[in-house]
Amino acid sequence: MVLDTATLRVAFGLMALVLGLLFYFSAYRITRSPYSGWWCLALVFFLAGSAAFLLDGTAHQWWANPLGNVLLVHGGVAVWAGARSLREVRPRRLLFTAVPLVTLVASALDSPATNTWSGGPVFLGAMCLTIGLASRELWRLEPGYSRVRVPMAAAAGGLSAFYFGRLVFFLLEGPGGPTFDTYFGSEVTTLVTMVLLVVVSFSMSALSSEQQTRALRMVATRDDLTGLLNRKAFIEIADEHLADPAVTRATGALILADLDHFKAVNDTYGHAAGDVALQAFAAACRETVRSTDLAGRYGGEEFILLIPGATADRAERIADAISQRLADSAHREGPRMPTASYGIATYDAGTPGLEALIAAADAALYEAKSQGRNRTARSDTAR
Ligand code: GH3
Ligand code: MG
Ligand code: MG
Repeated sequence: MVLDTATLRVAFGLMALVLGLLFYFSAYRITRSPYSGWWCLALVFFLAGSAAFLLDGTAHQWWANPLGNVLLVHGGVAVWAGARSLREVRPRRLLFTAVPLVTLVASALDSPATNTWSGGPVFLGAMCLTIGLASRELWRLEPGYSRVRVPMAAAAGGLSAFYFGRLVFFLLEGPGGPTFDTYFGSEVTTLVTMVLLVVVSFSMSALSSEQQTRALRMVATRDDLTGLLNRKAFIEIADEHLADPAVTRATGALILADLDHFKAVNDTYGHAAGDVALQAFAAACRETVRSTDLAGRYGGEEFILLIPGATADRAERIADAISQRLADSAHREGPRMPTASYGIATYDAGTPGLEALIAAADAALYEAKSQGRNRTARSDTAR
C-alpha cells in the first residue's frame, strides 16, 4: 500500500482543525486555563505547518518549506509551554523564540527552493527537544495530579523518541535512505502524529473536566464567608472518618465553639464588623489545628472541629490557643473581637455516632455559657 503524503497531510490538517475547534469550545472557552490555551495554539501551529508543506514542489516552496518547519517547531514549543503551565511555571521566553529562529535560519540557508528537507536535522532536533521537554514536565507533576498524567507524558515521550529516531536515520542515511523512508518518512510521521494528537486532546479534555469537578466540589463544600468547611460537608467527612474501620477503635475529640454575645458585636459595630470577627475566628481555627483535623462553620457564629487522636486535655489546649489567637487579632483590628465558649466531647470505640458526639459537645457548650462564657467545658458523657 502506498500512502501519498499530500493526501495524508490534508487528512491531518482537517483532523487538527476539527480537534482544535472541538477542544476550543468544549474545554478552553469553559476553563480558560493556560494549558488548554497553549494546546489550542499548538493545534493551530501543527495545522498551519502541515498546510505550508502542501506547497512543496510548487514555485512557493522556497518560503513555504522553511515556514512549515518553523510553524511545526512552534507547535512543539507550545506543547512544552502548555505542559509547563500545569506546574504553574512560565514558559522560557528565550527557548520560545530561539528554537524556531534557529530552525528558520538553518532552513533558509539550506536551499529551500529545491530542497524539501531544508534544515532537516535542525528541524528534527528541535521537535525532539521541545516535545521531550514537554514530556519531562508532565513526568515531574506529582503522581496524584491527574489520571491522564501518564498517558500524556507517555504520548509526548513517544513522539520525542520518534523524532530522535528520525534525526538519527536522517543523519545516517539521508531522507532517501531505506530505513528513514520506511519507518521515519513523512507518511509514517503524519500517521503517528495524528494518533498522538487524538490521545493528547482527549486527555486534555479529561483534565479540564477533572479540574472543573474539583473546583465545583470546592465551592460546594466551603462556607462562603470563612472558607472553612460548611456544615453539610463537615458532617459528611466527619461521619466517613468515624465509620472508617481503621479509626473506629481510635479516639479523638470534637469541639463545638460559639462566639460570646456576638449579637452585641453586630449591634454595636455593624454587621460588616461582625463578619470580620467571624473571619478572624475561622483564621484562628485554621492556624491552630493540623491539616488533618477538620474545621467547619456549624451555623451563624458556631464552629465545629474534629481532632482525631486528641484527648480532652489536648482539645482544651487547642480551644485556649484559638481564643488566644482571636484576642491577638483583636489588638490588630480594634476592640471588636468577641470571646468564645467551647464544649468538648471525646470519642472512642463505644461512641454511638457523630450525632451523639455533637449532642454531647453541645451540652458541654451550654454548660460553658451558663458558667459565664469565655471558657471551655467538657461533656459529662464523654468517655
Ligand atoms: P451567646 O453568648 O449566648 O452566644 O450570645 P450571642 O449574641 O452570641 O448569641 P445569639 O444567638 O443571640 O446571636 C447570634 C448572632 O449571630 C445573631 C446573628 O445576627 C449573628 N449572625 C449569624 N450569622 C452571622 C453572619 O454571617 N454575619 C454576622 N455579622 N452576624 C451573624
Ligand atoms: Mg449561637
Ligand atoms: Mg453566640
